[in-house]
Amino acid sequence: MSGTTLVMYGKATKIIPRMMRNHPITVNGLYGSNDIRHSIDDLGIVNVLTQWRGSESGQSGVILMRIVMLGPPGSGKGTQARIISDIYGIPVITTGDMLREAVAEGTEYGKVAKEYMNRGDLVPDDIVNGIVRQRFSQPGIEEGFILDGYPRSTSQADALDEILEENNQKLDYIIHIVLGDKTIIDRLSKRRSCPNCGAIYHLESKPPKKKGYCDQCGSGLIRREDDNPDVIKNRLEVYREKTRPLLERYKDRGLIKEVPGDVKLDELPDIIKKLLG
Ligand code: AMP
Repeated sequence: MSGTTLVMYGKATKIIPRMMRNHPITVNGLYGSNDIRHSIDDLGIVNVLTQWRGSESGQSGVILMRIVMLGPPGSGKGTQARIISDIYGIPVITTGDMLREAVAEGTEYGKVAKEYMNRGDLVPDDIVNGIVRQRFSQPGIEEGFILDGYPRSTSQADALDEILEENNQKLDYIIHIVLGDKTIIDRLSKRRSCPNCGAIYHLESKPPKKKGYCDQCGSGLIRREDDNPDVIKNRLEVYREKTRPLLERYKDRGLIKEVPGDVKLDELPDIIKKLLG
């Protein structure tokens, strides 16, 4: 059995899309949510969802999750973004990772970005806005997205508003992760990450099973160049000066949800589900 279109009706639209994000099948017809749940179990898992439509009757639609993660470096934006991505089946757009890839590949803008990143400064807007705009021109974000590390300044937030308008999108939530400087410095200095799959570890609170190697893909773990004390200090200052003011902007639009940055990892999914529904 293969199918990529989900036709959703009435109340079921709240439950079914989330259940089915990773288990897409075609369900044509009017069912109660429990009937569909059983049908899904009977039919099994098929394919990757490529298309998502509301019902022809217009009673239902897609539940969109268009999210910005906002918080100081080391507050766990990347970790929380991955958890949200798993729950709702939406992609994470991480400007830091995209820039690190460009640096590793030695592209023109990678070369420019590297200097700024090594100092802990913001990479120029034309580069960062450009990679985000390009990502929005690609498929895969129709059901939502999580922006991790963007926007980081008022001018980037203006650019994001423009990009969203061009794509007929809008933001649904800003997740503000709250964490004090002391914990941030401890976290960043003991952070190790996987350059291959992006998994994140902490030498004490989340060590890899095999020292120095990623649990998920077995690659050698690295300490990011910008996770050293001087650069960390600068990154925190840049956050306070340029990124934190965005909270006011989004508060005015009523979009902010606060999440503590120091809760246990296994408690996060429940906290997030309660916040976002
Ligand atoms: P991150 O992994 O999010 O901590 O980002 C690492 C570094 O990449 C930052 O310190 C900046 O130098 C650069 N960077 C990531 N995202 C942005 C952005 N939206 N604007 C400017 N620079 C960025």
